[in-house]
Amino acid sequence: MHELLELCAARGFSGLEWAGGLPGTVGGAIRGNAGAFGGEMKDSVVDVISTDISGSSPMITKRGARACAFGYRDSIFKNAAKGEVILSATFSLVRAAPETVAKAIAEKIAWRAARQPLDYPNVGSIFKNVAWATVPDAVRNNEELARHVKTDPFPVLPAALLIDRVGMKGVSFGGAMVSQKHPNFIVNACDADASHVRKLIDLVRHEVHAKFGVTLEEEVESVSELPGTPRRRTI
Ligand SMILES: Cc1cc2nc3c(=O)[nH]c(=O)nc-3n(C[C@H](O)[C@H](O)[C@H](O)COP(=O)(O)OP(=O)(O)OC[C@H]3O[C@@H](n4cnc5c(N)ncnc54)[C@H](O)[C@@H]3O)c2cc1C
Repeated sequence: MHELLELCAARGFSGLEWAGGLPGTVGGAIRGNAGAFGGEMKDSVVDVISTDISGSSPMITKRGARACAFGYRDSIFKNAAKGEVILSATFSLVRAAPETVAKAIAEKIAWRAARQPLDYPNVGSIFKNVAWATVPDAVRNNEELARHVKTDPFPVLPAALLIDRVGMKGVSFGGAMVSQKHPNFIVNACDADASHVRKLIDLVRHEVHAKFGVTLEEEVESVSELPGTPRRRTI
């Protein structure tokens, strides 16, 4: 993604600036319909070419954006087309002054650096934000929480807010710690392994459910839980 954004800035292509500072590959971002700052991959993807390598004769498939079934951090590549590897994609972008595109990307990178614990190893947001339409009445009627509802990519209550309100900021298990800077991040503060992170994730989810009746859904995917993958320390 970083290289793609550099290319956009150099050539003056606008549309993906929201992804400034988004780590990872284009394929990974399409699979998870990555998004930030009101933008998502689905907004610019025209089509995606992928291959299914599970069979004896690999099939190449080209899908338009609609057929990719993009949703909130979701796409067909997480579901019906789970075994497919994304090979390439076409994006629809608009012409803009290169310096304008570069400035917008730099602003997003600076925003992340100021608010996310990028000085520690981490895997990004642990939980998805919570769809406001699904929260229990007690949460909906809580004026203080309601003030923090964001409309990105639809009305959601930030998971970080709920984690903060149950006092989990700075709580650690083993070497893993709920970030003080951004409580929806768990950082490797001191030689953490995946089991420390898993314990903290479970604890956070338990505390939030106990206080608010909201079940946080993980945005991260634990590699050891994927079918056919040997257990290993991953996070
Ligand atoms: C500091 C930080 C900030 C982050 N901020 C955001 C954010 O703002 N918004 C957001 O949406 N995400 C965010 N993330 C999460 C992460 O950037 C995205 O999930 C990213 O798009 C994943 O891409 P990746 O290449 O790293 O995939 P990986 O983590 O390597 O893989 C994720 C999954 O995608 C699959 N995959 C990877 N490449 C392909 C491919 N070519 N074809 C098919 N499947 C593939 C992998 O098999 C795996 O199942 C953040 C992460 C960090 C660490």
